[in-house]
Amino acid sequence: MYSLELRRKAREMYAGGATIAETARAHGLPCPTVRDWCRKVFATDDPTHPWGASCFRCDDPAGFPADPVSYAYLLGLYLGDGDISAVRDTPRLRISCTAAYTDLLVECAQAMRAVLPNRTGRVTRGGCTVVQSHSRHWPCLFPQHGRGRKHERPIVLAHWQRDILTAHPKPFLRGLIHSDGWRGVNHTTVKGKRYEYVRYQFANESADILALCGWALDLVGAEWRYSRYNVVSVAKKHSVALLETFIGPKTLGPQSRPSNPSPDSAPFSAFPLRTSAFAVRIAPRVSRLRGMTARPCTPPGRPSTVSRRRRK
Ligand SMILES: [Zn+2]
Repeated sequence: MYSLELRRKAREMYAGGATIAETARAHGLPCPTVRDWCRKVFATDDPTHPWGASCFRCDDPAGFPADPVSYAYLLGLYLGDGDISAVRDTPRLRISCTAAYTDLLVECAQAMRAVLPNRTGRVTRGGCTVVQSHSRHWPCLFPQHGRGRKHERPIVLAHWQRDILTAHPKPFLRGLIHSDGWRGVNHTTVKGKRYEYVRYQFANESADILALCGWALDLVGAEWRYSRYNVVSVAKKHSVALLETFIGPKTLGPQSRPSNPSPDSAPFSAFPLRTSAFAVRIAPRVSRLRGMTARPCTPPGRPSTVSRRRRK
């Protein structure tokens, strides 16, 4: 029987970035033993270790996150593209991201670790990368989890979540746009003259999540409207300028950026503006629901002046 102190040291070394083999060698232990200690989240018998520690909702009395900005951002990501499922009785939080947006992947993993200090991992399939983390406390922190799809069940914030988002609506909106939203440039032709304008949109099948997006936009003072039954749109110039200050584009990683971007290009327009996740996942779903082919939305009352959204 090994001492709790030795187990704690091994787990700390592993959580600090060492491999199982390095940790085993450093402490003169068999690799399978160290693997059991470090990777079996629920097997921990050390309550002082983060993996065995309580979350802020399980504290007595229940508290608030140490980093509420990261929590608000992660909640936005979760409501957009996240889910909680169980793997061998271990809850797992997964956020699906477009693989090309490497900055987003990093920010997502950082937010997970800021909310619960567990290791995070990635699984990539096709153009989609899932950032994930295991902990028995994820269901405590996201009480919206449940069976079935989010749009088939009510999504209601707990009072403590509402308090956090009221104080930090901007990171919440950033998380929503980074998951199920996009920033695009639209073309408009009025009396033969062509105009371009930027707009933000957030698409979701859940009326409750769309309402939360609208509520957060109201909190920051941005004008918005429904451009479709399942799309919240922000297109007014001053509102878009406001969102630019804390959202901006879903940037690509440095290795994917053009080496010599055009000096006269718009600051954000050099990068793809709409994720392939939207094209692959949401657009066909909307098309099936409405029985029509995918096409850009047309604001009511201006059917002939809005041309296709530019895609680069
Ligand atoms: Zn908990």
